[in-house]
Amino acid sequence: VSLQEALAAWRDVLGDEHVTTEAEFLAECETATFHTSQRIPAVIHPGSREEVQQCLRIANRFKTPVYPISAGKNWGYGSRVPVTDACLLALDRLNHILDYDERLAYISVEPGVTFGQANEFLREQRSDLMLNVPGSTADASIVGNVVERGIASGINGERVTQVCALEVVLPDGECIGTGLAGFPNAEAARVVAHGPGPSLDGLFVQSNLGVVTKLTHWLTPLPKFYQYFSFAIKNPAQLGQLIDALQLLKRENLVETNLGLHNNYKRLTYTRHFPLQRSQKHKLDLRSLPEEYLASLEGYTWFGQGAVTAPSNEIGEAKSSLLAQRLAGKVDVLKWKEAGVDSAIIGRSHITSLASAYWRKQTIPENPNPDRDRCGLLWLSPLAPFRGDSITRCLSLIESVISDFQFEPIISIQFHSLRAAHVLASIVYDRNKPAQSEGAIRCHDLLLKNLIAEGFIPYRLTIRGMQTEIMPSNSYTNLLQTLKRLLDPTNILAPDRYV
Ligand SMILES: Cc1cc2nc3c(=O)[nH]c(=O)nc-3n(C[C@H](O)[C@H](O)[C@H](O)COP(=O)(O)OP(=O)(O)OC[C@H]3O[C@@H](n4cnc5c(N)ncnc54)[C@H](O)[C@@H]3O)c2cc1C
Repeated sequence: VSLQEALAAWRDVLGDEHVTTEAEFLAECETATFHTSQRIPAVIHPGSREEVQQCLRIANRFKTPVYPISAGKNWGYGSRVPVTDACLLALDRLNHILDYDERLAYISVEPGVTFGQANEFLREQRSDLMLNVPGSTADASIVGNVVERGIASGINGERVTQVCALEVVLPDGECIGTGLAGFPNAEAARVVAHGPGPSLDGLFVQSNLGVVTKLTHWLTPLPKFYQYFSFAIKNPAQLGQLIDALQLLKRENLVETNLGLHNNYKRLTYTRHFPLQRSQKHKLDLRSLPEEYLASLEGYTWFGQGAVTAPSNEIGEAKSSLLAQRLAGKVDVLKWKEAGVDSAIIGRSHITSLASAYWRKQTIPENPNPDRDRCGLLWLSPLAPFRGDSITRCLSLIESVISDFQFEPIISIQFHSLRAAHVLASIVYDRNKPAQSEGAIRCHDLLLKNLIAEGFIPYRLTIRGMQTEIMPSNSYTNLLQTLKRLLDPTNILAPDRYV
């Protein structure tokens, strides 16, 4: 009854056309890249911040939970599916670029603004700024990526460090601005993250304490000189040493972009599909790969990339030559692209790694959508210190569990700072094969448990991981729960999402 009352009230506020209960559409929204059983009774589409506020007040009045999504491309982590049954609060109609400053290098956006839209806008402005894009799609939203603490290749790829002035609607419908955005006339609201007093921005990232309806994202000036480089090693036993050499590059600030590494399996997923003639029941044995697959790897086991950037050609060339010296003996091949050639790593062109989600399929459609195409994908994204010994221990753990379940250990690593590694392991399978689907879930659950037991805590969770008790039972967790009860006593906003 309360759902029907809530639907009637939302229709009054938003209009019938912005409250969807059509079964086919709801079934699409309930489909992620792995098995879920959560139900979405309706999708509501507010068109302004004021309507978001009213929607939350109605949700409270009728005790009907809602789950916010921005563009809903959270592929591999849960897509549009809520952690527990809830109506979707879809923010795609809030799709305005509200402010932009070329000199101070920022853009202010609503949640429906996609990376593609913002980059198109920057091109139209003939901007010299860049906004790096996640590896999945330029149709993902900036706000959705920020609140998941997303990362991207390029300079300043740890997105959450590049945002300020969040506008947040709290579960009871009240609205706040964080940092200086709380002051109606603050001159520096969009260029400084924190105002006087405690900073609350972090409360609204990976949480269920508010709906972000606006934020400012700082942009990075395109460097005068940039040159993409790639490298590879043959012997996997060399990996620890290579990682330590890469750490030195970061320490010396020779590379301002992130440094990336990926293994041979990941490499194959970019350009190949699981060979049809092999039984999909078993992990692909690299020793018995078809000839053309082996040829594409050229005997290498780990591949890496980054870009040298600099304010002038002279400095850039000097940095490149130092970098080559530092990697000598640590890599089997080092290749340079011509300086200034467009590259995803400096955020100017957008090359996605979405092909990797289609590894166990035989084709990729022109307009890929892993949910619709029944790709199977679950991410596990542990954090490790930037040390060869620690990262190789984490990799061994991942490789052994994923291989035990007969999937390929498809792994990449991103280094954004001189201190930490984001290890990104994916379990890729075919959702049309029930045995694979079931195995993938068990593999995810066991790997999550083992990683946490060994101290490799994920930077981000799948909605399945959020249903698992992973937070330690201590005063910090209690405080988070107290805050949730205080801000959302009826528990209507994204129940069980992280908190
Ligand atoms: C092959 C592949 C490569 C990928 N590469 C990357 C990568 O390089 N980096 C990366 O970060 N991710 C990557 N992803 C994961 C994912 O596609 C991106 O993180 C994407 O940005 C998330 O989708 P979205 O931006 O549309 O967010 P949404 O799906 O809209 O939002 C994500 C979650 O955030 C919460 N949320 C959304 N909007 C709000 C709001 N306004 N207020 C409060 N909470 C909100 C919701 O709980 C939602 O489920 C990859 C996925 C694939 C399949």
